[in-house]
Amino acid sequence: MPADLKADSLTKRYPTPGEPLVVLEDLSLEMSRGEALAVMGPSGSGKSTLLYILGSLERPTSGSVEVAGIDPFALDAGALAQFRNTRVGFIFQDHYLLPQCTALENVLIPAMAGAAAPAATERARSLLHRVGLAERMTHLPAELSGGERQRVAIARALINRPPVILADEPTGNLDRRSAETVAALLLDLYREENVLLIAVTHSTELAARFPRRADLVDGKLQFASP
Ligand code: ADP
Ligand code: MG
Repeated sequence: MPADLKADSLTKRYPTPGEPLVVLEDLSLEMSRGEALAVMGPSGSGKSTLLYILGSLERPTSGSVEVAGIDPFALDAGALAQFRNTRVGFIFQDHYLLPQCTALENVLIPAMAGAAAPAATERARSLLHRVGLAERMTHLPAELSGGERQRVAIARALINRPPVILADEPTGNLDRRSAETVAALLLDLYREENVLLIAVTHSTELAARFPRRADLVDGKLQFASP
């Protein structure tokens, strides 16, 4: 069976007045649904760049990405937008919820972009229930705690049943207890939803809970022995 996420020989360089800055260097990765990987590395090592390229938000300088057999960088703008919306769920360090929308409406946003399925509201309610926010569905982001907002962001990432979830420092802005709850939910939900999860984190505690861990060093992933 082909991998659900395949990155082949990714290189990313940023031009500078002098030598180009090499962020990723011949990086390859294959993952399937039901797998989870924590990526660690010092600030500036290219972790966010890697996630953005895997999620088609940024183009690699060279190399290729395939998600569910599709090369996102070969798509036209409309198809690429549709691809990002349905194939990849993003969770960022900041929740990026829309302030004027309730928790329920925020979870539904990715489902509205295409043809909104009649079942979407049911799915959104069920996800909010699953992340422990059954009593918070009509709250605005400002009326939620940081941890609750990240739980809404997790539900939003899952609404369209994408094969891939990418999380960039998902617990980075949370206090210890909220971080614990969010981490536990992420690690339970990727199994329940049978998605593949890649999370970038500074937290050795969070990383230790992942079945696979790698450090991003000199533009390449160095996998820890299990
Ligand atoms: P991390 O997430 O591991 O902290 P990033 O992926 O954000 O690292 O950044 C990796 C390196 O690439 C950093 O040195 C950063 O300054 C540089 N960088 C990121 N984005 C750009 C950009 N658009 N133009 C130039 N340099 C960039
Ligand atoms: Mg980063």
